[in-house]
Amino acid sequence: MQILSASEKTVSIGSGTANAAISFENMTASAVAVQVETKNRRFTGLGFSSYGRYGHGGLLRERFIPRLRAAQDKELLDDSGTFDPEKAWAVLMQDEKEGGHGERSGAVGVLEMALWDAFAKSQDMPVWGLLAETFGHIDDSGPAVGECPIYASGGHYLLSSDDARGVADEAKRSFDNGYAYFKLKVGGAPESTDLARIHAAIEVAGSPRLVAVDANGMLGGAESSGRLDALDRCGLGWIEEPVAPLDFNGLAGCAGSLDTSIATGENIFSEADAANLLLFGGLRAGKDKLQMDPLLSYGVIEYMRMIQFAESRGWSRRDFHPHAGHQMALHMVAGLGLGSHETASVHDGPFSGVDEGTRIEDGIAIVNDAPGLGIEYKPSLYRYFDGLLAG
Ligand code: MG
Repeated sequence: MQILSASEKTVSIGSGTANAAISFENMTASAVAVQVETKNRRFTGLGFSSYGRYGHGGLLRERFIPRLRAAQDKELLDDSGTFDPEKAWAVLMQDEKEGGHGERSGAVGVLEMALWDAFAKSQDMPVWGLLAETFGHIDDSGPAVGECPIYASGGHYLLSSDDARGVADEAKRSFDNGYAYFKLKVGGAPESTDLARIHAAIEVAGSPRLVAVDANGMLGGAESSGRLDALDRCGLGWIEEPVAPLDFNGLAGCAGSLDTSIATGENIFSEADAANLLLFGGLRAGKDKLQMDPLLSYGVIEYMRMIQFAESRGWSRRDFHPHAGHQMALHMVAGLGLGSHETASVHDGPFSGVDEGTRIEDGIAIVNDAPGLGIEYKPSLYRYFDGLLAG
């Protein structure tokens, strides 16, 4: 597989929503296209940033795309002449110091996504099938390869209002559309408002276990312990990011006091940081949920290192529930046998729902088996590649 071209376009994905920590009004993302040639056939691989960390145009244009373009063919291929994702990862990371992961992990992740899309198309396989073939699917009684639990994430604070009726409508639409759980934001409004929103969602769901909350790290202060206790008494499916992402001591305190499952990890961007989270965050294997996001953390290769470390500490792949709702996470969850796929419940956004070839039935996604990641089958996402593909 020879790299013919690679390009990036930074696009606006701003929306009139917010969580407890930030507004999404000025959010951006990187759309990436990589054209490759193999056996005299050309394929275009597509990548698109994860949500919440802005685009990575500067890093991609200054460092990572030039490194990929400068690579010799043999630096990207194995002994049989097939594309080797691990060697490609090493090309991207040459001359990068360890630690201090910052924004570059998202730049590498989105470029690696485009390479996986191109590689899978060249093999005439969906990415989930290629991942299962490369790394194996978990061997258990859970969903089969190509299928995965899927849940809806929403309940944002609208910049115009934050009423419980809107949350109930969103939750109802999510369950009507087949999603297994509904997650809403907390910690960005007075406690009474948050509890009203939660109980509105529980009433629609029929059980608190089908509802989860996400505090985006904003309930870590001593003044918030009473709020966490109130959430714990709700009997929810899980409480997400109760404290700031790198406050492992605070997280360990939560794990010691909350009966409810804790979910965290979406702002952990490397194997080393994931290891520290598991070693020092007090999390409980088999009970808590790990949400590291492959696109924000150097892509599939680094994510597999995280999984292998976690497995060595008694965790299962089913404990991994990647953040954000992008096509890479969907294919990784279905191909590797991870825990569940998150998708945004808002209408018509790049992280909303699934592509047109993927079905959702009774809380399970049956993922499109078209070659690649299915981005071309998701109009709300594919439209961001306009101009990039022609250029
Ligand atoms: Mg979250």
